[in-house]
Amino acid sequence: MSKCHSCLKDTNDSFCTSCRKKLFGGANVNHVLQFTRPEFNEIRFEHSNRLSISGIRVKYSLKLEQKELKLNEEGGQYIIKPVSYGPFRNMESIPANEHLTMAEQVFKINTPPNALMTFGNDEPTYIVKRFDVLNDGRKLLQEDFAQLANKTEENAEGNYKYDLSYEEVAELMKNYIAAYPIEIEKYFSLILFNLSGREW
Ligand SMILES: [Zn+2]
Repeated sequence: MSKCHSCLKDTNDSFCTSCRKKLFGGANVNHVLQFTRPEFNEIRFEHSNRLSISGIRVKYSLKLEQKELKLNEEGGQYIIKPVSYGPFRNMESIPANEHLTMAEQVFKINTPPNALMTFGNDEPTYIVKRFDVLNDGRKLLQEDFAQLANKTEENAEGNYKYDLSYEEVAELMKNYIAAYPIEIEKYFSLILFNLSGREW
């Protein structure tokens, strides 16, 4: 008996039936990826037009082909986020930490399906299913709150995407979401959840 690599319940496979369905549409995907971390690095550097050394988290797109997850420059249904390299402690635990933080069943928050996988060379990595890509690869259009507030590069300054207060975001939700009373409660829970993880 081992643990499901998504929900951590006991199972005989890499994933329990329910998570296999949610993550991979039922395909019997193994939690060990068919490529190693050095192979991942090579592909990422080949396809990345700018060398990103400043970003804390490295990410790349993954696509499901039959029952195998393959690195894919764009249009993948998943994002893979391995351990980053940098001058920080406990870097190797970041994928597990993100997986736990995104554990729907523990914190009762609404999260996209995600899992803790392993590279072919045993290194851990986190993967998450994209909520803006449908199973057939079609992309859903998204708007962020800066767009809803009509803030653009032209009419707003510097960090305009992140300048709205929690209260201003709530006001926008009131204007644009019909099921506002339900959604505002979820929004408030998320704010509390995020604040509770901080060190003061
Ligand atoms: Zn599961």
